[in-house]
Amino acid sequence: MKKRVLSGIRATGRLHLGNYFGAVKGMLELQEKTEYETLYMVVDLHTITTPYDKGMLKQSVRDVIIDYLACGLDPAKSTIFIQSMVPEHTELAFYFSSVVSIARMQHLPTFKDKVKQYPHHTTMALLNYPILMAADILIYKAGIVPVGVDQEPHIEVAREVARKMNSEYGTDFPEPQRFVTRGEYVPSLTGMGKMSKSVEGSYINLTDSDEEIEKKVRSIPTATAAGGEMNEGVKSLFALFKLTAPESEVARFEKEFHAGTLQFMNLKKAVSTAIYKELQPFQEKRRELAKNGKYIDKVITDGAEKAQKIAQMTIKEVKEKMGLA
Ligand code: ADP
Repeated sequence: MKKRVLSGIRATGRLHLGNYFGAVKGMLELQEKTEYETLYMVVDLHTITTPYDKGMLKQSVRDVIIDYLACGLDPAKSTIFIQSMVPEHTELAFYFSSVVSIARMQHLPTFKDKVKQYPHHTTMALLNYPILMAADILIYKAGIVPVGVDQEPHIEVAREVARKMNSEYGTDFPEPQRFVTRGEYVPSLTGMGKMSKSVEGSYINLTDSDEEIEKKVRSIPTATAAGGEMNEGVKSLFALFKLTAPESEVARFEKEFHAGTLQFMNLKKAVSTAIYKELQPFQEKRRELAKNGKYIDKVITDGAEKAQKIAQMTIKEVKEKMGLA
């Protein structure tokens, strides 16, 4: 049997370079390997764990599906679907919640961060986020998960759930591992923390125009003179450059930086050009895809049907092993 791969992105806004380099690049790489069966979803249920706009959600979910396709995810090779269209995920999450303690969830750094960010929205859905994510992965018995480094604590929870379920109920869930990409941590444009949809001014969207990209790159703080220690903004610039430009070009600018001769304007121009060049094919493909509503509908319904077949088998097995059926 082929090894299964599972990944997902929330529909909280447009995809940005962090999602692209941290997750989508890995998803694409694994899709092309014949030894893997790849399943990629839009996690709309995870989207509602923090405040969201209910009038926009449906369109946002569809936009991520179109982004996936424009990035090169291929429904002939991968199952592309929407999480809530396979309600078995939430059913399994409930079964899993019986083997996870409340304290374990409360102590997760990801939970604490979100509590700080949304102090008036600490809901049960938010606390349950990692359990639902464990169900997303394990309902397909996926052993490989291409996601950014920020998701590692959640993958660890999925491994714990797999071990507990296997020892208490004799299931055969694998212990999933993260598939690491070169862009597993894309820094914020502010020079503080990671690029994230929920932090304004931190991200470059895949659909940004060349002018927008240039403007955003220009905003990266590089207030030091070249040479000496790089500040966080300069580090972010070079990190983005390394992900988008040839090594020789990066080395040339690094040499200039260390020699103290670097003009930051030149580096910023080179970084914006490299990012836009990386994104241009995506943007062209996306414009074409967005015109083809019927095709998108078909990808969505076919994907859910394929995913649900596997999900139902796991639910049946778990219910039997837990004494529920
Ligand atoms: P966001 O943090 O922007 O809301 P999500 O939580 O939807 O994004 O994450 C979707 C995927 O993108 C996950 O695999 C996550 O690890 C990855 N990801 C998000 N931000 C980054 C980043 N700055 N660097 C690398 N990967 C990231």
